[in-house]
Amino acid sequence: METASTAKEDLKDTLGRAMKDLRISVTDRCNFRCSYCMPLDKYEWIDRSEILSFEEITRLSRIFVRLGVEEIRITGGEPLLRHDLEALVSQLARLEGVKDLSLTTNASLLSEKAAALAAAGLNRVNASLDTIRSEKFRLITRRDDLANVLEGLSAARRHGMNPIKINSVIQRGINDDDILELVEFSRQHGFWIRFIEYMDVGNSNNWISDKMVSKIEILETIHARYPLKEIGRADGSAPAVNYQFLDGIGNIGVIASVTEPFCAGCTRARLTADGRLVMCLFADQSLDLKRLLRSGADDEAILSFIRSAWIARTDRYSEERLEAMNSGDYQPRQRRKIEMISLGG
Ligand code: SAM
Ligand code: SF4
Ligand code: SF4
Repeated sequence: METASTAKEDLKDTLGRAMKDLRISVTDRCNFRCSYCMPLDKYEWIDRSEILSFEEITRLSRIFVRLGVEEIRITGGEPLLRHDLEALVSQLARLEGVKDLSLTTNASLLSEKAAALAAAGLNRVNASLDTIRSEKFRLITRRDDLANVLEGLSAARRHGMNPIKINSVIQRGINDDDILELVEFSRQHGFWIRFIEYMDVGNSNNWISDKMVSKIEILETIHARYPLKEIGRADGSAPAVNYQFLDGIGNIGVIASVTEPFCAGCTRARLTADGRLVMCLFADQSLDLKRLLRSGADDEAILSFIRSAWIARTDRYSEERLEAMNSGDYQPRQRRKIEMISLGG
């Protein structure tokens, strides 16, 4: 039986959505410059003194768990750039009430880190990989790291991580001709693959809807070569719709944030590296938890602040985007959003 301190609240926002997932960005720095995420050469980085310590992150996570969070994902920027990340993994893995702990990474440093992460209690990983051709990889990420990424995936497997999920963002005219190769690669190596519709995150990726390859187009390409059957979402709040290969080999899903938004089931809260609470990937506002934390507030005060913010939550940006796109008046750069590197996807 749960003790009073671990009992979870049945918190709901204005649209009846619970808070079940927490995405924690541990750094806004990245060693890649993916065209769809961080295309500029220079950014205004968060000052180091503003970055939450592992102890602060763990304390906040414990409070989020009391409010209903069951799944935690560590992300960034590139989370493996954060020194000694395994120490945070070890603290979060021990939190009572967390059913799932995962890491989203570009995998370029994973071969060096996999052993320590696995020993610290990380048992699965999501790796971003949009092509397995080295020229194209360089074009998309502006780095020459494909070999390191592939080694990172092998190391994760050697250290028993399972599943290893590959996330591929598909952009028209860039890597829409890589879809089948990515499918084959993942089937061959036993990695799960999740295709992601290209989104209008942040303010600098010059998103236009024509560059987005829809879920339907992605599935048509795959189905013509490897017939598929829809299985559905793993649960009501899962972003990916899963499919089964009729030959039984592999595991595939598509995250259709643009063409089939899933805001109605969005149970995700986000914590930025500098301790701001963000309620939506496309938000233009955040709430400063760090200030509260560092002003000496006790857990109950922080909990009640987060609770009030979640209860007032109204975000449904992707549904609004689709409505605007359908009526022909969507302007992706009208609202100044928080950058993806602060939010971590
Ligand atoms: N650096 C890590 C990585 O690349 O996996 C973690 C952070 S990254 C911001 C998290 C995820 O967001 C990645 O899977 C990335 O592909 C995805 N992402 C970034 N920009 C995107 C965009 N414009 N549309 C769709 N997905 C995007
Ligand atoms: Fe870095 Fe990940 Fe963004 Fe690429 S998607 S620039 S690896 S944070
Ligand atoms: Fe959640 Fe915002 Fe994405 Fe909708 S647009 S699914 S509310 S993060």
